[in-house]
Amino acid sequence: MTEREAARARLEADRAATLRRIAELERELGGIIASAADGSSGGDDEHDPEGATVAYERQHVAALLEQARSHLAAVGAASRKLDAGRYGQCDACGGPIGAARLAARPAALTCVRCAARGLLCQGRNVPNTGISAAGRSS
Ligand SMILES: [Zn+2]
Repeated sequence: MTEREAARARLEADRAATLRRIAELERELGGIIASAADGSSGGDDEHDPEGATVAYERQHVAALLEQARSHLAAVGAASRKLDAGRYGQCDACGGPIGAARLAARPAALTCVRCAARGLLCQGRNVPNTGISAAGRSS
């Protein structure tokens, strides 16, 4: 098996796993929305502790789903790079991504250094500053 074929096989496996994960998360999200809509809680977040949990859960699953979708996009971009003969080349600096990183993350589009600098970041490894956890302490 050539290096290129091995990379193709890893990307295909990654794509299949990601598609399964997306389907799973979509089902989960659908279930959360359905159970929230089906009335027992009445959508009253303030008086029903269940309501707040459901809202949090929905937000959490939606974030995971978004992450999985952006990963799928990265897998697609990586396999286009493979077609174009640019696989393993960093999108940001043009340097080599490195075999070890590609083995661990076949869909990596940038080298470790550029990923650390947050260039073309894939998978949105941004800490979720948007969701406020304040008011939970004490
Ligand atoms: Zn780079």
